[in-house]
Amino acid sequence: MQLNGQSLIGFQASSRNGATFRAMNPATGEAVAPDFHTADAADVDRAATMAEAAFRSYSHWSGKQKAQLLTRIASAIEALGQELIERTALETALGQDRLKGELARTCNQLRLFASLVEEGSWVNARIDRADPDRKPIPKPDLRSMLRPIGAVAVFGASNFPLAFSVAGGDTVSALAAGNPVVVKAHPAHPGASELVGRAIVEATRAARAPEGIFSLLFDSGTEVGRRLVQHPAIKAGGFTGSHAGGRALMDLAAARPDPIPFFAEMSSTNPVFVLPRAAAERAEQIAAGLYGSVTLGAGQFCTKPGLVLLGPEKGSEQLSAKLTELMSAASDQVLLTAGICKSYERGVEQRARLRRVATSKSSSSGFRAASALFETDLDSLISDPDLTEELFGPSTLIVRYEDRNQLLRFAERLEGHLTATIHGTEQDLRDSADLIEVLETKVGRLLFNGYPTGVEVCHAMVHGGPYPSTSDARFTSVGTQSILRFARPVCFQNFPDAVLPDELQNGNPLGIWRTVNGQLSREALS
Ligand code: NAP
Repeated sequence: MQLNGQSLIGFQASSRNGATFRAMNPATGEAVAPDFHTADAADVDRAATMAEAAFRSYSHWSGKQKAQLLTRIASAIEALGQELIERTALETALGQDRLKGELARTCNQLRLFASLVEEGSWVNARIDRADPDRKPIPKPDLRSMLRPIGAVAVFGASNFPLAFSVAGGDTVSALAAGNPVVVKAHPAHPGASELVGRAIVEATRAARAPEGIFSLLFDSGTEVGRRLVQHPAIKAGGFTGSHAGGRALMDLAAARPDPIPFFAEMSSTNPVFVLPRAAAERAEQIAAGLYGSVTLGAGQFCTKPGLVLLGPEKGSEQLSAKLTELMSAASDQVLLTAGICKSYERGVEQRARLRRVATSKSSSSGFRAASALFETDLDSLISDPDLTEELFGPSTLIVRYEDRNQLLRFAERLEGHLTATIHGTEQDLRDSADLIEVLETKVGRLLFNGYPTGVEVCHAMVHGGPYPSTSDARFTSVGTQSILRFARPVCFQNFPDAVLPDELQNGNPLGIWRTVNGQLSREALS
């Protein structure tokens, strides 16, 4: 497919000729054709206004219709096949095997949401039947369910060019809930974004969806995104990316005359706590697992373990020595963008004051980075909170603690993270019940004897956490529960049955699970 480098506004490519930019090949540092045109204010306005108009009809699509649309999108993206993999590999330097896995994940995610909305019970239908004889006043008939929220602005991240991008988790959960989407394409993979965007347009046309249900806007800077979040037709935002970007956009969303919910999934350092018996029993095995997790995808995962807390036991020395050996022998890796590469180099330099126990070699071409392992003690970390911030790239920090009380005090001071991991035995867990209690208040996902990279897309996943890891700890951005971000409850009081949405009618024509007078049921009501 010939890329034309234009934003997609509804079913049409924009005809406006804004300033141009090109994708970069991270492996060589060279620009890659073609030119992509930056969207302008008129493009943003048309995309947002068309999305608002599309909402009027799309918000009433049945679960079955939406499921067909999402399935068509999955098939259209799959049909891009090797062309999409090759263009994405060129723009990201992520290996083809990794990208094939990510493509499968993206399409499985679309199909998972299709099955969710086709089944239909996600709308949390609740019925409290009327009681005209209740004293002292009669009880009305009350029925509520989740309804779509309105047009959603979506911002994808550079490190998941498929699964957290144009057809990623935010887009699919917003569409599944019944909302049109306007995507601001990430400038690090514009070609991959255009290919996926055109596949979505083809699928939405074939499904006879209203035209403004999807638009894709290009920009190499922040102007388009800022305009989009402030546009009155946009009713919510979903963002995956850096803390700086997420915070700037959530502040804009909150400062609107009509503030809108803005779900920013940002950075995290994902502390790993190695408890004494685990260190004694499995030092080398844990070191190997950590090495794999820290260097996976060149350390460019929001779930990368960036802090490893080790106690005074002998096993800890062994673990640290093994991790040092592995990190020293690692080859250099290509990072996604010049900006990420610069931030990584700056972060490594800033840590020069720490003991640097391992560093691999780095060659000069492209955006390459050497792995780096640092070590410090817990008191130094507590007095220098910058060290708990994410360093995006193949690096981690070993922190030595002296006793459990010191560790507990540190855990109490932690900010919000996406994950925390405990390596321990069952006895370690019993001895550290207080630590786990504290960690539960700090993260969205607690892992036992595992590694945090690798986020399963399923019903129970929570990929979220208290601020600053996200803007709203009550939600997840991965898994079927992420649909809840883009829906809101609406209650119908004393409405005639025939006028109610199918989900709330007495006959329960969709056969969904509902809470009727406080009891879960799929029965029809008389
Ligand atoms: P990024 O630089 O924040 O970019 C994300 C998107 O936001 C881009 O489209 C970017 O556009 C836009 N943006 C950034 N700052 C903005 C601002 N001030 N105003 C308007 N738009 C702005 O993030 P990235 O480098 O792609 O991704 C790496 C980061 O994402 C890491 O910190 C990683 O941990 C995090 N991440 C988090 C998750 C999660 O689920 N929590 C998942 C993956 C990655 P421009 O590039 O054009 O500025």
